This record gives sequence, C-alpha cells and structure tokens, in this order.
Amino acid sequence: MPMELIVLGSASPYPRPGEPCSGYLVRGGGATVWLDAGPGTLAALQEHTALTDVDAIWISHLHADHVADLLPAVYALLFAELRPAKPMPLYGPPGIGERLGAFLSNTGPAPIGQAFAVHELHDGHFAEVDGLTLATRAVEHGFPAFGVRVTDGARVLAYSGDTGPCAALTELAGGADLFLCEADVPTPSPVHLTPEDAARAAHAAGKLVLTHIGPFLEPAEAAGRAGTDAVATPGTGYEV
Ligand SMILES: [Zn+2]
Repeated sequence: MPMELIVLGSASPYPRPGEPCSGYLVRGGGATVWLDAGPGTLAALQEHTALTDVDAIWISHLHADHVADLLPAVYALLFAELRPAKPMPLYGPPGIGERLGAFLSNTGPAPIGQAFAVHELHDGHFAEVDGLTLATRAVEHGFPAFGVRVTDGARVLAYSGDTGPCAALTELAGGADLFLCEADVPTPSPVHLTPEDAARAAHAAGKLVLTHIGPFLEPAEAAGRAGTDAVATPGTGYEV
C-alpha cells in the first residue's frame, strides 16, 4: 500500500466551521500516525480511523492550534469505551507531558502516563512506528518546534510544522516526494513562512502542498505566490 497523507484540518490560528486546525494522518508501512492535534482534529480523525487504531502521535510544537485536542484524547483513552491495551506512543516537544498534566489536573495529578507513553523530541530524533520511520528536525518558531520526515522506505513525506525560513527546513524538504509546508503569513517573518518562502524551501522536493494559511492570506493567492495548485483542505487525501 502506498504511503498516504490525509488532511484532518489546516486552519490558522483557530478552527472554523468544518475546518479544524492543524492535523494530519499518515498511513503507510502498516502504520497510522497522527501528526499534530489541533482543535477539531480528534473528531475529524474518527471519520477515517478509530483513535485506538492510531499507532503513534507526533506533535510539532506546543501552540494550542497544534496540540489542544490531545486534552480530550486523554479522556477518550482513559475514561471511555475505547480501553486501549497500552499507553499510546506520543512524540512531542520537551515538557509536553507536564503541559497536558497541568491543564488536566483537577483534584490531583492527571494520569497522563496512563494515556500516553511520552517521548520528548530533539533535533535528530528518530523513531520507528511499525513500518514507518520518523526523523525529526528542530525548526525556527521562537520556541522549541520541529518538522519531520516520514518514510516507509520507498517514499518520503516532509512536514514543516510551524517555522520561519531556516536551513533545517530546506534540508527537511530536500528529496521528499511530498512536502507539506505552512504558509501562514503574507510578509516575511522570523517565525512563519510566506508562500514564496515555502516555495524556496520546496525547491528540491516533489509536490508542494500548502497548509496553515493564515487569516491574512487567501488560499488561492497563497497557491499562486508559491507556484503550486495544492492547498490542504479537510478530508483531502494525497498519495505520497
Ligand atoms: Zn505555532
């Protein structure tokens, strides 16, 4: 089965009707990985798979529009009918377990470790999830943030996370068959990309799919400026 990317949501910086924030499913090598868990994506994910059929979660950074749905995911994994056999592997920035636990703490410590087996990311982090490998790079977003290359050994998907222009992003995209890249801002920024920045980072990649297009850019304008016809919309699937 070829590797597949399914867009759960791409809205920035808050969800709109029918448009969750950042979240994606990657399927391949017998594995299903959930990349980023923005608000609205837990419901959208269930249009495609059961939460308990997700093999691992990978989180780019701790901004709410990329991580908020991990909070109800804890409830789903611990307090509902799903009853997973073991904690779900969660790859995320340093401190992610504590951040979730602090929000979910009511009368005592929240049992995050029962829901998630937390693995903290760093530049060069490498993980194997069944037949998929995830290679993480640190990118520039003003605080710890990461991009990732996912491969099944045959094809490569690269995802920018949120970032400004940086060498790590260009390296991340180089040689990828599909590059899923944010284009959040209309004018240059140290912590986000313009459509032109995305196109420059994608110069050595295959198909460029724009995502996380911010509120001050029209998707059609962003696509035109980046020279691609692919803009991530909820429910869209791409063969990598
Ligand atoms: Zn962000």
